[in-house]
Amino acid sequence: MNGLPVPLERLIQELSKLPGIGEKTAGRLAFHMLKAHKGEVIALAESISKLKNEISLCVTCFGLSEVVPGGGATGCKVCRDPRRDKEQVCVVEEPVDMMAVERSGAFRGVYHVLHGAISPLDGMGPESLKIEDLMARIKGLEIREVILATNPTVAGEATALYLAKVIKPLGIKVSRIARGLPMGWELEYTDAVTLSSALDGRREI
Ligand code: ZN
Repeated sequence: MNGLPVPLERLIQELSKLPGIGEKTAGRLAFHMLKAHKGEVIALAESISKLKNEISLCVTCFGLSEVVPGGGATGCKVCRDPRRDKEQVCVVEEPVDMMAVERSGAFRGVYHVLHGAISPLDGMGPESLKIEDLMARIKGLEIREVILATNPTVAGEATALYLAKVIKPLGIKVSRIARGLPMGWELEYTDAVTLSSALDGRREI
């Protein structure tokens, strides 16, 4: 967009890099911010900058965790909750999937976030994921069941199969969430009821 003051042009450029936001929407958002109350815009800018400074990965499950001022790495809310069943581990691809399962309210165990799925074409092998950490965690604790809640996509299924192959020889029950979820769909966009019944209907593999 020519003829715009540089700061406005820069904001539009930055906003249009966000997923699902084209230049037109970016422009609308930028003009909205220009008109909005200064305090509102500063609060938005601060919450964005805090994202990077105050959120880290949980040392146990690799889900999202808040950085404690003055302290180093810490556990997430789920790992720190003494009421959670530490013998049941739900394996998901991304922190956003962990949030989707949490929203369903159907799971009282703990999580392990892989940060991706096995996809050789994209150069993602088992070593690119938090699988070694999962194995160390499984071997070091009393784990009753590992629930594989990777997405019902080609990569998610490949990951579930791989994990079942390496975990089952340890004598641990491994189950996969039910196939009620359509193939290619992602947990992130699944409603709480569907996700809750997919968890209930999980099968041992
Ligand atoms: Zn955690």
